[in-house]
Amino acid sequence: MHWVGNGFPVRSIFDYNNLGQELSPFLLLDYAAPYEFPPGKEARGVGGHPHRGFETVTVVYQGELEHRDSAGNGGKIGPGDVQWMTAASGIVHEEFHSKEFVQKGGPMQMVQLWINLPAKDKRAKAGYQTLPKAQIPNVMLPDNAGSVRVISGDFEGQNGAAKTFTPINLWDITLNAGKSVELPLTDGHNTAVLVLQGKVDANDGQQAGATELAVFSRDGDRITLTAKSDAKLLLMSGQPIHEPIVGYGPFVMNTRSEIQQAFEDFQEGRMGDL
Ligand code: MN
Repeated sequence: MHWVGNGFPVRSIFDYNNLGQELSPFLLLDYAAPYEFPPGKEARGVGGHPHRGFETVTVVYQGELEHRDSAGNGGKIGPGDVQWMTAASGIVHEEFHSKEFVQKGGPMQMVQLWINLPAKDKRAKAGYQTLPKAQIPNVMLPDNAGSVRVISGDFEGQNGAAKTFTPINLWDITLNAGKSVELPLTDGHNTAVLVLQGKVDANDGQQAGATELAVFSRDGDRITLTAKSDAKLLLMSGQPIHEPIVGYGPFVMNTRSEIQQAFEDFQEGRMGDL
């Protein structure tokens, strides 16, 4: 576990330097497991910093976050809400606990997933989608097995709340102890499941427990998950982007010179300011 700023005690489940190509278009996954913050006064989080070349998706399970960026977007997200930020050509933003949450204190639990953009979209205009809980379709599974919240992509005819550049299924899954679900996916896409809580058996009987990531083969068009205990899961499945990945800190591009350009553009203020 390490701290991002003074607000986010995260485990880096993977990043673009180890699984970038294998899990393309997914670049990085940080998971802040439930952590109790005492009531406080000081701001908690990370101050202004840039991103370029990809999107950041923040899923809040417990606690409340506040965001502000150089494109003029901002907002507050709480349990069940998702923020989908498109850094693309460049953005400067800050990520803090909301003032109310700092004052009250309480448990914080969240995930941040970085999703790559194809080269042709890396210089697109920055964007921001707030996806409140009420706008995220919640599909109940048969046999009281649990539910699937469709953050993006589609499941059982329900379209996800987020607009994406490439096909991406991002599903927030609840699976009850002893129950199984067969999930339809796309042959050739990269699929991984983060276990937030509980224990699950995958297709072949391999098990994954809390804070573990199950990585699936690209072959085939479905996976089966069975909960050994009440489970909370985040499934990500997407079409691989077959392009070079060159990343440095908050920038992920296709070449080294584009990374140098990103640092220069940030330093010269060309990604805007807060
Ligand atoms: Mn950031």
